[in-house]
Amino acid sequence: PLTLRTAIVGYGNLGKSVEKLIRAQPDMDLVGIFSRRSELDTDTPVFPAASAADHAQDIDVLFLCLGSATDIPEQAAGYARHFTTVDTYDNHQLIPEHYATMDAAAREGGHVAMISTGWDPGLFSLNRTLASALFPDAQQNTFWGKGLSQGHSDAVRRVPGVRRGVQYTIPNEDAIVEAKAGRGAEISATSAHVRECYVVADEADHADIREAITTMPDYFAPYDTTVHFISDEVFERDHQGMPHGGHVVTSGDLGGSCSSVEFALKLGSNPDFTAASQVAYGRAAARLKAEGKTGAFTVLEVAPYLLSPVALDELIRRDV
Ligand code: NDP
Repeated sequence: PLTLRTAIVGYGNLGKSVEKLIRAQPDMDLVGIFSRRSELDTDTPVFPAASAADHAQDIDVLFLCLGSATDIPEQAAGYARHFTTVDTYDNHQLIPEHYATMDAAAREGGHVAMISTGWDPGLFSLNRTLASALFPDAQQNTFWGKGLSQGHSDAVRRVPGVRRGVQYTIPNEDAIVEAKAGRGAEISATSAHVRECYVVADEADHADIREAITTMPDYFAPYDTTVHFISDEVFERDHQGMPHGGHVVTSGDLGGSCSSVEFALKLGSNPDFTAASQVAYGRAAARLKAEGKTGAFTVLEVAPYLLSPVALDELIRRDV
C-alpha cells in the first residue's frame, strides 16, 4: 500500500504524541513539524508555521495539533485550503460552526477536512450515535474521568498558599450504576462527578486552603470535593501524568426487556490516546480524498474500515 506523507502543525502535548504514533504506523512517513516557535526539542525537521503552504505538494495529511480555544478557530480554515487536515477541535457547542467553516475551506482547495476526532468529541460521539440508534427511547449519560482537569487544576493553584496542585474529575460510581439500570434521567452533571484535589502547601495553611477550594463557586462548591495534602515527593511521583477516560452509558426498553450498552475508556495519557484517534482518522481522510471526496467530515460520516491499515477483505475475515 501507498505510504502517506504526513506533517504536524503545533508541537504541544498532542503534537508530541502524534509524532510518536506516526513513527509506529506501517503506512505513514513524517515529513516535518510546522511551529510558531523556531526551536523545538525533536529530530524531526521543523519549519515555520507561516511557510506551510509552500510544502503543500509534499504532504498528503496535515495533523492540526493546535489549541481549541483560539488557534483552531483562527487558523484551521487557512490550512484546510491547502491541505487535507485532521483536527481534534473540542468546543462541542461550536462544532456545527466549525464544520461549516472547514467544509467551505476544504471544498475551495479540493481537500478533505476531518474534524473533531479524538475521544470526546470523537470515539464518544460515535458511540453516542451508535448506541442511541438501537433504542426507540434511549436514556444516555456520559461520565468523564478519572481525569486530570487543566482548568480546575489552574483554579486550585491560584488559591493563596498552594505551592503545587492538581485536580482530578472522577465519575460517581453510584451514578454509573443508576445509569446502567435505566435510571439515568435524574442524574445531573454535578451529581455524576466528584472532584479530588492534591495539594502541596505549608501545614499552617492547610485549613484555609481546604476552605477556599471547597467553597469556590462554580468550580468546586456544587460538587462533592475532597482536598488531599501531600508532600513534594509524592506529588512528583504520582501526579505528573495526564490520565483521563470516561463512560458513555445508554440504556432502554426493547419491547419488554431492558438492555444497556456501555463504552468505556481508561487512558494512561490523554494526549497519547487523543493522538491515536487523530492518526487513525488521518488515514481515513487520505483515503476519502483519494476517492475524490472533498469537504468536511465528522467521525459519524467515516466507515470504520477506513481507519485501519489492514485491508478490508482481511478485516471481514478477522473481525466480522
Ligand atoms: P498545548 O497547549 O500543549 O499545545 C497547543 C499549542 O500551543 C501547540 O500546538 C503549540 O504550538 C503551542 N505550545 C505548546 N507548548 C508550548 C510552549 N512550551 N511554548 C509556547 N507554545 C507552546 O495543547 P495540547 O496539545 O495539550 O492540546 C491541543 C488541543 O487538543 C486542546 O486544545 C484540546 O482542545 C484538544 N483535545 C481534544 C481531545 C478530544 O478528545 N477531542 C482530547 C484532548 C485534547 P506551536 O508549536 O506553534 O508553538
